[in-house]
Amino acid sequence: MATSVSIPAGAPQADRTMGTYRRADPLFVSGEGAWLVDSEGTRYLDWISGIGAASLGHGHPALSKALGAQAATLGHISNLYRHAPGEEFAARLCDHAGMDAVFFSNSGSEANETALKLARKHHAQNGAPERQRFVALQGGFHGRTFGSLSVTSKAAYREPFGGMLDAAFVEPGDLEGLAAELLQGPCALILEPIQGEGGIRELCGSFLKKARQLCTETGTVLIHDEVQCGGGRTGQFLASMHTGPDAAPDIVTLAKPIGAGVPIGATLARGELAGTLQPGDHGSTFGGGTLASSAGLVVLDELDAGLQEHVVELGESFASELDRLVERHDVLFTRRGRGLLQGVVAPGRSSEIVTALFQAGVLTCTAALDVVRFLPPFVLSSNDLLEGIARLDRVLTDQF
Ligand code: PLP
Repeated sequence: MATSVSIPAGAPQADRTMGTYRRADPLFVSGEGAWLVDSEGTRYLDWISGIGAASLGHGHPALSKALGAQAATLGHISNLYRHAPGEEFAARLCDHAGMDAVFFSNSGSEANETALKLARKHHAQNGAPERQRFVALQGGFHGRTFGSLSVTSKAAYREPFGGMLDAAFVEPGDLEGLAAELLQGPCALILEPIQGEGGIRELCGSFLKKARQLCTETGTVLIHDEVQCGGGRTGQFLASMHTGPDAAPDIVTLAKPIGAGVPIGATLARGELAGTLQPGDHGSTFGGGTLASSAGLVVLDELDAGLQEHVVELGESFASELDRLVERHDVLFTRRGRGLLQGVVAPGRSSEIVTALFQAGVLTCTAALDVVRFLPPFVLSSNDLLEGIARLDRVLTDQF
């Protein structure tokens, strides 16, 4: 029997999803590579790739084939039973990340939630259950669930929701402040090696290494959130790998690009932490399912078969083309980022530039207040890179 739902006055009539996003108007109907097509047939260059998730772009043949074949063979069976794609994906993901074990969930927030719980249990079982406080960085973004939100610095995201977990926020680069917090014996330090939402801000290698050293000295669990910057986006599988083993975390979280658009969250741990969670401690109905694992395997296959090198090469061209635009256009203050995680700083003008680019057929979004953020799919071709740069150049010349 059909049920009728009454829509409150003022709520959108066409879109019955809750009003958490101001969705842009085009109704996208298809896509190919780095291009999206709307219901009017207009083509857009996708330089945001579903906020960094659609790493293989749209309509990727190997991904479509693998998902179709998996759906036709073995669908969802939960974590109550073993399945080959899940076991293979877990092993290969651990190898890529240099970690010992993984817990699969479905999003970046959940991956961080798991990391926070894992760190708490680690201290509880080592006789220090009082170590519950988290330390995070100003500008950091870790998600929207209660735990991940508690360590997200932007107060406006937290305030409407009441009580949070206890967390302290330190400025990136403030080693004294960080040391003072860590000496108080917190549970964990969580940070993004390159802050995404915070404005494509890369933490300097010496800060990452010193944070590692301080965590080791104080027995604090070090969590790297690589949900946005990891999974190959910056040219290495983990962004922290650009700094080297001296910066390696105890736990790293991944999501977005490792599923190529199929929801995956992954919490990877090493050493004792890899064995901390026991049956019943944590769970996920969907996490690491057959379809998500098949998608993840395609991403790893593609990275290993040359896509990672492509990201490195394209990332270098992207950076130098953007640097050229920064020199030519006064509205751009500087460029930030690595690989295919790039941003240009346009104080006070970033939203206008995003809108003008949208009208010119290039999809981007802002980060922090002043940054135009570029998160193209890894499969972006050199021609499509130059096409997007030409459109950006034209927009800046004509309108700014
Ligand atoms: N962590 C980082 C660094 C992110 O950029 C995001 C999302 O943008 C998240 C966590 C949350 O991920 P999700 O939206 O998949 O829950």
